[in-house]
Amino acid sequence: MKISENYSIKKITFIVSFIVFLFMMLISSYIFYQKKKSLEYHVYQTGKNYLQITSDALEVWISEQLKLAQVLASDPRVVNAAKNPKDEKIVGEAHDFLKAVHERYPQYENLPILVFTDTDFEINYNGEKKTIKNGTILTDTVEGKTIGKAGMKYNFVEEIYKGKEFFISKVYPSIFRGHPIFVLTVPVIDKGKLIGVIAVSPKMDFFTNIFLDKLKHGETGYTALFDDRWVTIAHPDNSLILNDSKEVKLRLKSIVQNMMEKNIFFKTKFNGIDKYYVIEKISLKEENTANTWYLIFAQNEEEVLSPAYKTLKVSILISLVVTLAAGFFTSFLGENHINFIEKEVLKKANANLETKVKERTEKLKVLAITDSMTGLFNHAYFLKILKKYIENSEIEKFSLIMSDLDNFKKINDTYGHPVGDEVLIQFSRIIKKNIKGCDIAGRYGGEEFVILLTECELENAIKIADKIRKDLFQYRFKDIDKEISSSFGVCEWKGEDLITLIKKADNFLYKAKISGKNCIKY
Ligand code: GH3
Ligand code: MG
Ligand code: MG
Repeated sequence: MKISENYSIKKITFIVSFIVFLFMMLISSYIFYQKKKSLEYHVYQTGKNYLQITSDALEVWISEQLKLAQVLASDPRVVNAAKNPKDEKIVGEAHDFLKAVHERYPQYENLPILVFTDTDFEINYNGEKKTIKNGTILTDTVEGKTIGKAGMKYNFVEEIYKGKEFFISKVYPSIFRGHPIFVLTVPVIDKGKLIGVIAVSPKMDFFTNIFLDKLKHGETGYTALFDDRWVTIAHPDNSLILNDSKEVKLRLKSIVQNMMEKNIFFKTKFNGIDKYYVIEKISLKEENTANTWYLIFAQNEEEVLSPAYKTLKVSILISLVVTLAAGFFTSFLGENHINFIEKEVLKKANANLETKVKERTEKLKVLAITDSMTGLFNHAYFLKILKKYIENSEIEKFSLIMSDLDNFKKINDTYGHPVGDEVLIQFSRIIKKNIKGCDIAGRYGGEEFVILLTECELENAIKIADKIRKDLFQYRFKDIDKEISSSFGVCEWKGEDLITLIKKADNFLYKAKISGKNCIKY
């Protein structure tokens, strides 16, 4: 089994990559969230600036209308005409004056004089009779087309009649062009007495065209104007202007809802597109206006947040790269780590094997020279050592004992081979007990033993042999009911060669056997 199978690198790599990916995604979403917040703040600020500029411009524009209306209202030709509405000449002078002014200011739809009168009367305009009632138009600058129109039912007349300094009507489509206009009226006063009204009717699209339409931001940012009827007054999409159809109202519903909740910055859908909206109320006095006007700045969410989405894309890409890198790095480290572990384990296994081989070799070496039953040296090794002794010039003296158990065949026959084996083992123990560490004992054959006694002369060797003989004879085997004995041949080396020396000892052993066994000959 491969060690790497124990360590699931793939699993660890997967977990590490997963954690890194989660972490990176967390960072990415945090960056995205922060970026989104700052972009939202930015679009709010931009919108607010645009609307501030636009509302300032609108207020200036309206106040200019008001000033002009007041100048016209205090002009003696106008006052005279309102005072003498039936005097064709006087009225004609005022008409010519206003017509000349209108030619100078084409942004007005009409510059009419309206009069207050207790009784209706008729006037002649280019041969055509027109009835003038209370609060209706006496002169206009559009070829008499509006003479006799308006009246007290219109709030821009009624409110002036009630004493207002000026009044701004709702925005409505002009009868000539259908474009949005509103009517700004001021009183015509003679010696403290209200006698008529001067109306200027600015074309709303004039303002839109020269100002609002230019306030585009990016691809989708634009500025628009609504009033509190939730009617569009100015918008880059002309089809919406003064369009109060159900369908358009439905489209504007969510924007209107937000405006009614007085939200000045919000995000909602328009035409199925998410947009950010900034709202600014135009600060005209409520008592002087028919409606409250709202400026709106709008920009598509997609465009506003596109830098954040770009950042998100990049950070997701970076996250993936970092995740891959982490994955590769982990698996690389893992492989390295496991290679290292494998090497270490192999090293240990090698070392173990080496010591085992050494031990085995040692054991084999010992086995090769040892008699397995008795633990004494075997025949061949004993002779090898004995030969070395004889050949070693430094050795001065040593003795040799040769011993053969008596009547051993009978012991085997009587008590069985295992008991015989037990005798062989016990005799070996007795031999070992009686010799020194430097002496060498061997099993010469079946029940025949040899002992090399180093630095030992004959006399001492005889003593040792006799001690061994006595120890055996006195030993009581548990399965044998009589004494066991052994015969001994002992001699001291006198410089003879191996074969001669062995023969000498063997001869003494033979002598011991024939002289009755259980004795020592030398
Ligand atoms: P002697 O006193 O003349 O030496 O007579 P002996 O019976 O001891 O001699 P003999 O040579 O006739 O018999 C030796 C016997 O030793 C024969 C053999 O079966 C037995 N023998 C040899 N090796 C072993 C052994 O390893 N174990 C056992 N149990 N018996 C063994
Ligand atoms: Mg024998
Ligand atoms: Mg024998």
